[in-house]
Amino acid sequence: MLKTLAGFVSLVALAVPAAAQDAPYQRQARDVYERLISFRTAEGHGQVPAMTAYIAETLKAGGVPAEDIVIIPHKETAAMLVRIPGRDRSMRKILFSAHMDVVDARPEDWERSPFKLVEENGYFFGRGTGDNKQGVAALVSTILRLKADKAMPARALTFAFVGDEETGMETTRLIADHEWVKGAEYAINTDAGGGTLDEQGKPTVYGVQGAEKTYATYFLTLRNPGGHSSRPRNDNAIYDLAKVLNGIQALQFPAQANALTRASLRLAAKTTPGEKGKMLARFADNPDDAEAAAYLLADPTVAYEISTTCVATMLDAGHAENALPQRAKATVNCRIYPGDTVEGVKGRLAEAAGNKNVVVEVDGAPVVSPVSEPRSDVMAAIAKSVHARYPGIPISPYLEAGGTDGMIYRTKGIPTFASSGVFMKDSDVFFHGLNERLPVKAFYEAIDHVHDLAVDLGGARPAGK
Ligand SMILES: [Zn+2]
Repeated sequence: MLKTLAGFVSLVALAVPAAAQDAPYQRQARDVYERLISFRTAEGHGQVPAMTAYIAETLKAGGVPAEDIVIIPHKETAAMLVRIPGRDRSMRKILFSAHMDVVDARPEDWERSPFKLVEENGYFFGRGTGDNKQGVAALVSTILRLKADKAMPARALTFAFVGDEETGMETTRLIADHEWVKGAEYAINTDAGGGTLDEQGKPTVYGVQGAEKTYATYFLTLRNPGGHSSRPRNDNAIYDLAKVLNGIQALQFPAQANALTRASLRLAAKTTPGEKGKMLARFADNPDDAEAAAYLLADPTVAYEISTTCVATMLDAGHAENALPQRAKATVNCRIYPGDTVEGVKGRLAEAAGNKNVVVEVDGAPVVSPVSEPRSDVMAAIAKSVHARYPGIPISPYLEAGGTDGMIYRTKGIPTFASSGVFMKDSDVFFHGLNERLPVKAFYEAIDHVHDLAVDLGGARPAGK
């Protein structure tokens, strides 16, 4: 029906959820969301502390004692932790996380003001509607609902509000080292993971992010004595670097697999027709299948999921139009598969460069984070929540090529599973871009999803039940 009556259904969809989204907690969550969007929490605007203060006041008004809230100021930003004590001190706590900062948005470039929540045609528009203020609103809403229900969970729950996920993740490190967080059994991150809708709006799959590739940037530099451009020579830093880059382009890393990627490829195989579908299934069953591995490595839509990748992204060379270049430098961005090392990839780049004069350097100190192996209790709770709204939808853990602050928690020994509860179409994803939006339905589902997990995993039953 969704496919054949799309226009009709969208009219119905506008009318139906309005009634279903009118519960007091839903109105409260929407009000919070509206306020959150109004803070320009991008780097350089210094508005995270104001937003933090607003959230703290809202929570206190909802019954959270002041001693269960801690604000951690850091440079122009801040982080905040909120705890709900547990009944059973023998059980380890659970962490829930969302980030308050956003990538900046220039009002003059947007069709609507990015810092004012606009509801239109079934969407919420505004910077942070999807990344990640829906997560912040879900955390706030969950805490308020637990307090309103006088629900004391079995386990202690800690809610983390990160202040600089989009830039340095320094507040994430402060959070991870805080006593309310240290020793958490695992974390649920609202900043990734979720469901995919096809272009007709039909749900296809739900992914739980359990690992991230390591983001690492390398500089490849060649130096040369240079000279006058009227007297060219064979040795030339720019020509030499061009040859080096041909070697980098040809560099291919071997196919790899872990429990997460095998599960997500197995699922992809089911919906992928033809030869590609067969190869996905073969590789998922046996990652040593050389023919399947070679086939998938040649397909850029799959290769990044099963191997380390490196690609040249920037060039900087020469100093004057009438001089032979004294220096030529390429920036190569790599996404390292869990298990490969930053030094190992550096060695492969140097070897592929094929020029012993090239100097290969790593930019900064990349964060290498371990894989969080899927836990049956977490996957079951996520499935219960997702299937209540989308019965039977396949759920799979996956490896993310991008990066969230989940990687900081993982390096600090807290297995982290990202599950936002948000279902959307790929064509609706404008996070970090212009006219960011979130389906209205997805917002209310995300609010319920985090609450479901807190109740289920935390053992938070309302008082008297
Ligand atoms: Zn984010």
